[in-house]
Amino acid sequence: MKEKVSMVSLGCPKNLVDAEVMLGCLAKDQYEITTDEHEADIIIVNTCSFIKEAKQESIDTILDLADRKHDGKCKLLIVAGCLPQRYQEELAKELPEVDIFIGTGDYPRIAEIVAEKRDDGEQLRYIGDPNYLYDESLPRLKSSPAYTAYLKIAEGCSNCCSYCVIPSLRGAFRSRPLDNILMEARTLVASGTKEINLIAQDITAYGSDLPGTPTLEALIRELSAIAGLRWIRLLYAYPDGITDSLIQLIKTEPKVCKYLDMPIQHISDPVLRRMNRRSGEAEIRALVAKLREEIPEIALRTSLIVGFPGETDEDFRTLLHFVEETQFDRLGVFCYSREEGTPAAEMPEQVSERVKRERYKKLMKAQARLSFKRNRRLIDAEEEVIVEGYSDETDLLLKGRSSRQAPDIDGQVYITAGNANVGDIVRLRITDSSDYDLIGEIVS
Ligand code: SF4
Repeated sequence: MKEKVSMVSLGCPKNLVDAEVMLGCLAKDQYEITTDEHEADIIIVNTCSFIKEAKQESIDTILDLADRKHDGKCKLLIVAGCLPQRYQEELAKELPEVDIFIGTGDYPRIAEIVAEKRDDGEQLRYIGDPNYLYDESLPRLKSSPAYTAYLKIAEGCSNCCSYCVIPSLRGAFRSRPLDNILMEARTLVASGTKEINLIAQDITAYGSDLPGTPTLEALIRELSAIAGLRWIRLLYAYPDGITDSLIQLIKTEPKVCKYLDMPIQHISDPVLRRMNRRSGEAEIRALVAKLREEIPEIALRTSLIVGFPGETDEDFRTLLHFVEETQFDRLGVFCYSREEGTPAAEMPEQVSERVKRERYKKLMKAQARLSFKRNRRLIDAEEEVIVEGYSDETDLLLKGRSSRQAPDIDGQVYITAGNANVGDIVRLRITDSSDYDLIGEIVS
């Protein structure tokens, strides 16, 4: 075996898949993968730079791990992903302790890049155009438990929301060929995966750029035919890409989780227009009403931005009332982050950090109350739950996730009666609930 490699992957699940591909390529090249950065000869930080907080976390993590070059065995510190893709010049100056920078289009070459590295102290950069598209022929060392996996179906984005840097970091939207995705899905299921979480910057645009324009629905139908696959979850769906036929498929296909993550970002039309979002208030309200009417048990997740330039008290009140009326099952709220190079960064009437935080707190406080109320309605209902292991608090309690809770971002289910193994999918009767978690007993 060659040197030991450890990886820290920050940001979104799409970035995590890139990290797993980098680990797969290195493992295939006989590097030993370790989770202990103190014994690693090579440390890789796969970064995010989409908003201020994510950039800060990336920098802090790099500086923290750079210490391993002094108190550990680390000889090579590699920084990959969205931060070097965006700030290669600045980083090279400000982070001399980093040996290699790798962009979002170059990570599959990591084994070759590491092999090329001479120990002459020269800092190297491999940052080209973000035009790479992952395919299943590349080895991927999955970091999530066997029973669940993220499946990246496309890369990049062409929606051009006025506040977003992702198109400049990841390139224009490009779909993976259908059969390529299916091959990976079959490999995942053969290795024990029961839950597949479909991810992209915008999954609803799937196939729009491919010959014959296969649709997301066509992909889901093919995935549903894979024996052994139990749950298919849809994440990052752009509202106006959610068609009637997709809604009917979510409703009727048993393997598709009654769950939908559809970031809307705001509800006030003046704000949505300045965000360059295609869906307006009326369309979003009609879509939510249709989803709830067609699939009453659906769990709706969305993301919102507060403090967008020009957001008035009135705009914010409209948003707060909409959230209270709509009662999303899951809600992520972000304070607007002024990102240089985006149209929104140049807009007048930038909102103060104090006001952003106040609006953030008000929304999250309202959501905690609403989530508590929605969870109370589930008592005595039955849910399908995937068992994930013992609770962090005590070995006496199993924990899991219902089909209406996504991995890593939604609440948990605590199991007070019944036995099962990790990865089992069981039926559970809900006996109690809190703001974000559920409690219940296995019934079968
Ligand atoms: S849909 Fe908008 S916010 Fe999402 S990645 Fe694309 S440009 Fe960014």
